Amino acid sequence: MLALVTGASKGIGRAIALELARNNFDVAVNYNHSMEAAEALCNEIRQLNVKCEIFRADVSIQEEAAKMFGEIKASMGNISVLVNNAGITKDGLLLRMKPENWLAVINTNLNAAFYCTQLAIKDMSKARYGRIINISSVVGLIGNAGQCNYSASKAGIIGLTKSVAREYAGYGITANAIAPGFIDTGMTDILKQEVKESILKNIPVGRIGKPEEVARAVMFFADEKSAYITGQVLAVDGGMTMV
Ligand code: NAP
Repeated sequence: MLALVTGASKGIGRAIALELARNNFDVAVNYNHSMEAAEALCNEIRQLNVKCEIFRADVSIQEEAAKMFGEIKASMGNISVLVNNAGITKDGLLLRMKPENWLAVINTNLNAAFYCTQLAIKDMSKARYGRIINISSVVGLIGNAGQCNYSASKAGIIGLTKSVAREYAGYGITANAIAPGFIDTGMTDILKQEVKESILKNIPVGRIGKPEEVARAVMFFADEKSAYITGQVLAVDGGMTMV
């Protein structure tokens, strides 16, 4: 079975691609800027005796996403598992948020997931099988000062997940979301030390999460045996958002 992971060159996407490969999936690795990192990942994946190819596309642009889907189909076949992982932050307080920073984040984190889901769903419907896993965030559940754009995109992806889950439940396709908390990647590396410390105070487990811990949860939803689980949001956050 073939899995596509968007934004797989680094961080959480990279860990997801490796976890899927370890579980015998062929992997289409999407990247935008980091070609060398994507190639290195692909070489690592091929050593696990599964197929892997890299595909450059800015998935926030529908035409580029569509071209990539065509290329994947031609060289690797139909996609059974889609992981919408590509994401960016452009933080700022509401009053200072520039419209272009609002739009860039919505385009990358939410619109790209819509484009890729729409592009994947026809073949999944025909096959009467599919697994769609969307990477949301805890801030899509509880909000965050300074991240109105990012929180809106991550809340939006939960709505998208549940609607797709309802529309395609009868086609053997599940759609679920993961809401990671504070995970050790380039995205969180840029935070100031005092910000990191104040986040850590609110994590019951008492530490930052690892990309591999998010990847485990993705693999759970990607499994053929998870057929009766759809429209769910699983927080991988060290207990940060438990109620
Ligand atoms: P990261 O280390 O900054 O990696 C982001 C990845 O997304 C890169 O591989 C990048 O590819 C790719 N990407 C960005 N824009 C893209 C585009 N337009 N088209 C294709 N690929 C694109 O971030 P991360 O922490 O792994 O984040 C992965 C996902 O987890 C994101 O959706 C993020 O919002 C979510 N998340 C992260 C955390 C956290 O604490 N780290 C928490 C909650 C949710 P290139 O480098 O090739 O451009």
